[in-house]
Amino acid sequence: MKILVINCGSSSLKYQLIDMEGEKLLAKGLVERIGIDGSVISHTTTGKDKKVIKKELKDHNDALEIVMSSLVDKEYGAIDSLDQISAVGHRVVHGGENFAQSVVIDDEVVAAIEENIDLAPLHNPPNIMGIEACEKLLPGVKQVAVFDTAFHQTMPAKNYIYAIPYENYEEHKVRRYGFHGTSHKYVTQRAADMLGKDVDKVNLITCHLGNGSSITAVKEGKSYDTTMGLTPLEGLPMGTRTGNMDPAIIKFLMDKNNLSIEEVDNIINKKSGVLGISGVSSDFRDLEDAAKEGNERAKLALEIFENSARKFIGSFVTEFDSIDEIDGIVFTAGLGENGIATRKNIVDGLKALGVKIDEGANDIRGKERIVSTKDSSINVLVIPTNEELMIARDTLSLIK
Ligand code: AMP
Repeated sequence: MKILVINCGSSSLKYQLIDMEGEKLLAKGLVERIGIDGSVISHTTTGKDKKVIKKELKDHNDALEIVMSSLVDKEYGAIDSLDQISAVGHRVVHGGENFAQSVVIDDEVVAAIEENIDLAPLHNPPNIMGIEACEKLLPGVKQVAVFDTAFHQTMPAKNYIYAIPYENYEEHKVRRYGFHGTSHKYVTQRAADMLGKDVDKVNLITCHLGNGSSITAVKEGKSYDTTMGLTPLEGLPMGTRTGNMDPAIIKFLMDKNNLSIEEVDNIINKKSGVLGISGVSSDFRDLEDAAKEGNERAKLALEIFENSARKFIGSFVTEFDSIDEIDGIVFTAGLGENGIATRKNIVDGLKALGVKIDEGANDIRGKERIVSTKDSSINVLVIPTNEELMIARDTLSLIK
C-alpha cells in the first residue's frame, strides 16, 4: 500500500511517497516559492537522480499537479499511475481542542480546521489548500489529517491553563496546546522499542531541538507537559523566536521604540532567539563556527539556549515521583540529532541530577544510539525523528 504524505506551508510544500510494505521511501520532494516568482520543484525518486523543474506555480493546486506528474513521470517518476496511491496523509498544524488523534478527512473535519485558523493563521490555511487540491487531483482517495497538536491533548488542565482570567479559556480557547506532537510521538515509540518497554509504560523527557524547539514530559507514553504554548513561540529561545520572556517587554518595546503591536510581533517571532542575541545567524552551525572564532555574542546565544533546555529538562524531572521512573531523555530534530556539543553541554548541566554523557558514544550525528554512561541516573538517547513516517503510519491505520 502506497501513501503520499503532504506538508503544505504558505509558499512551500514537502512530500514523500512511502510504500508501507517495509516502510520504504519511494520518492520525496520539495516545491518552493508557490505563488511567488521563481517557483521550483525538486523531486527525487529513490535510486534515481534528482530532478529540478522551474515552472510558474500560482497556487497549491498547481504545486500538487506538478507533484503528481513527477510521481508518474516515465523517466524520473516512482509509480506508473496515480491509482497506486492508496491514501494521502496531511500534516495539519493546529487541531485546537477538536482533535486528540488523527482523523479521516470529511467536510466536518475541514470545517473544524477552518475554525482553528485564528490559532494558526499562517499554517492552517495552506494545510486546507493542500487538502482541497488533493480532493480534486485524487478524487475518491481517502485523506487523513495528522495534527501537530494532537499528541499533547492528553496534558492535564494544571499544565495547560494559563494564569489569566479563566473566561479567556472558556470563550476563546486560550490555553497551552503544544506543537511538534508528531515528532514527540514518533521518538516516544522508538525510545520504547530501544529500551525494550511497552510504549504505554515509557516515561521520557523528549527534546525536539531544531529551528523551532520544544521539550515534552511523556508519562506512560502520553504527553503530560510541554514547553510550547498557544502558539509555537513559547518555551526555549529558538532560531528566531524569543521563547519565554517577561510579557511586559512587549509594551516596553512598543513604547521605547515607537513600534506597533504587529512590528513587535514580527520582532519576537522573526528577529529574536539565537539570531537576535548573536546578531550572527539563526543556524546553530554558524553559531558554533562564530563561537569557535571567538565571537562572544554567538557564545552567549549558545549558552542561553543550552541553559534554557537544561532548566526545562530539570523542571520536567519534577513531573515524576522519582528519578528512577524516568526511562530516558531523548534528543531529536536537526540540532538534537546532529549537535554533538549542544547535547554534551546540556547533559553536563544536569550533573546535579546524576545524568552523565558518554563522550565517545555521543560522537554521532543522525543515528539512533544511547549516549549516556552506564552509571547515568537517566538514559540519554539520540533518535532521528521521522514525522513523515509517523503521518504515513497513522494514515495507514485509519484507512485499514
Ligand atoms: P530542523 O528545524 O529540525 O530542520 O533543524 C535545523 C537546525 O538544526 C539548523 O538550524 C541547525 O542549526 C541545526 N543543525 C543541523 N545540523 C547540525 C550540525 N551538524 N551541528 C549543529 N547543528 C546542526
